[in-house]
Amino acid sequence: MKNKIIAGNWKMNKNRVEAEQLITELIPLVKDTRNTVIICVPFTDLNEAVKLTKGTNIHVGAQNCHWKESGAYTGEIAPSMLKEIGVEYVVIGHSERRTYFGETDETVLLRTKAALAAGLKPIVCIGETLSERNSGNMENVLRRQVVEGFKDVTAEELQNVIVAYEPVWAIGTGVTATDEQANDAIGFVRSVFAEKYGKKVADALYIQYGGSMNDGNAKGLLAMSEIDGGLIGGASLVAGKFAAIVNAHK
Ligand code: PEP
Repeated sequence: MKNKIIAGNWKMNKNRVEAEQLITELIPLVKDTRNTVIICVPFTDLNEAVKLTKGTNIHVGAQNCHWKESGAYTGEIAPSMLKEIGVEYVVIGHSERRTYFGETDETVLLRTKAALAAGLKPIVCIGETLSERNSGNMENVLRRQVVEGFKDVTAEELQNVIVAYEPVWAIGTGVTATDEQANDAIGFVRSVFAEKYGKKVADALYIQYGGSMNDGNAKGLLAMSEIDGGLIGGASLVAGKFAAIVNAHK
């Protein structure tokens, strides 16, 4: 059985002092887990996070990157800039970026390819809205996001990708998908990857669930056969809660 990959997405929270407090508190709480622990922090906290987690089992990720190496792209960060300071992971295509910042399957693909080329491991987010689910379009949407968003990602590159299935209606709402809903959707996503890359590659792919995962529901979700981990927003901002999720799967 795979270990689980638990990633915290701090979003636009925690200044430098707060980040230091949270990481310092978290380190001893997750040190004995066999699961992989990642914290995806704001750009301004990355240097400090890398420094503080050195020699621990906590890995550091950013929350976005651009696809160009350098140039006139005001406000953007190149993958190589992240790699250079010791960042290992980067969240790509989070639904908040798709909703508020015009991210599309096409830009998700560009960012993913650039991140991989720089040696970063992308955590690529997909997921349907409530109206897409209620109108019976969930599978069409997930299929499109996988087919378009991974168009020229090779099987070899896929080994360094984590996919996060995050139903938009569950993100930050306190409404979690049931264990079965999350497992079924991830099973479907895996089957779409299997159509393109074959079953072996799809089975090896890590697909997380994200959407109001917390210390109360993590154990059930993480026990499901298709769910390879979690992407955690709100609950990752409190060391004890995030650690409880990490430690929920032994
Ligand atoms: C997220 O930001 O990816 C997320 C799942 O948020 P939350 O856990 O707060 O729903």
